[in-house]
Amino acid sequence: MTTKIEDIKVIYTAPEGINLIVVKIETNQPGLYGLGCATFAYRHLAVGCVIEEYIKPLLVGKSVENIEDIWHLMHHNAYWRNGPISNNAISGVDMALWDIKGKMANMPLYQLFGGKCREGVPVYRHVDGRDVNEICENIEKYREQGITHMRCQCGGYGGDGYGQAPNNAPIGAPDGIYIDTKKYMRDTIKLFEDIRNKVGFEVSLCHDVHERLRPIEAIQLAKALEPYDLFFLEDPLPLEQGEWFRKLRSQTSIPLAQGELFNNPYEWRCLIVEQLIDYIRVHISQIGGITPARKLQIFAEQFGVRTAWHGPGDMSPVGHAANIHIDLASHNFGVQEWSGTEPPNFIIQELKGPKEALLDVFPGLPEFKDGYVYANDKPGLGVDIDEKEAKKYPCEKGITKWTQTRLIDGTLLTP
Ligand code: MG
Repeated sequence: MTTKIEDIKVIYTAPEGINLIVVKIETNQPGLYGLGCATFAYRHLAVGCVIEEYIKPLLVGKSVENIEDIWHLMHHNAYWRNGPISNNAISGVDMALWDIKGKMANMPLYQLFGGKCREGVPVYRHVDGRDVNEICENIEKYREQGITHMRCQCGGYGGDGYGQAPNNAPIGAPDGIYIDTKKYMRDTIKLFEDIRNKVGFEVSLCHDVHERLRPIEAIQLAKALEPYDLFFLEDPLPLEQGEWFRKLRSQTSIPLAQGELFNNPYEWRCLIVEQLIDYIRVHISQIGGITPARKLQIFAEQFGVRTAWHGPGDMSPVGHAANIHIDLASHNFGVQEWSGTEPPNFIIQELKGPKEALLDVFPGLPEFKDGYVYANDKPGLGVDIDEKEAKKYPCEKGITKWTQTRLIDGTLLTP
């Protein structure tokens, strides 16, 4: 009997206060279902609408088998394509179909991708703090957990948190997160100098510019950070300024990582073919799920570019599991960003409440141990969802504030 899609459900949940969207595909086989991540935290209802009103009628009754064909059907069906809302909706279905495929084969997904290149996935964690002393204390905490790669920021991404415009902004300037780019550059260079002086060169350090500089400033910062041996400098340029990568690359040997905002293969093709970046780090649900991510990984391998998939808090554990399964089977894997979905004995104290809730909602997520993350050996993605628990943490519809970033004269900046 052909296994068919019987229902496609959208599950909204926010156990950590971040809106997560998970797609559940039910089949005509009793007990056989799949889960996928469709998390676009800041437009969750729009993604849900695309899935429920457009994709579900398109796919119910179809065989679950032909994922490649279904992916292209979803991708082309609305005629206009490659947008973040539609890509996340497509990803939810695509991952759920891969989850079902693994369950039908009775294999974890990494097996279907060719098997393991390594037993565990090395991950990097985010280290922040009010000053270099606090940052170095946090580096030591993570070192004790076996973490060897850390992304260091002082006070987030260089601006103060959302609030009133500063005194030197024009009269009437709106509230926001204000950043003085020159001060951020000076502080960041000093931060890495101080960290290296205090903890030495044994730890691999990354830094995320988060697209908050003008291109020429990004070149200046990259050159100035060279003595501190960064593992990579992340998102030095906005995705709209891709041509600047040729100039940046020609000026510095600092390893470059880019891509969490990419939607469209056209945005990464030239960067990879011209070897202008070292790490491609797309957000897998944002490009449409496992099917395009596997193609991108294999494409990047041909040009010596490694993967460092985006793994933030605004991604569901189902999405994290998809990252880990692809990482395990990728020869050109670099490092995995890990936002802290550890089993309870590894949870650091200040995160205890929300992380426990996350584990209640998503049993079976990949486990962190001594610097590495391991997929479980259950068939498919290996993660489940407890729908009763998920309902306890409803999503919020509030206005997104952290994206309202401004230069000191009040001009909006990419967040
Ligand atoms: Mg980033």
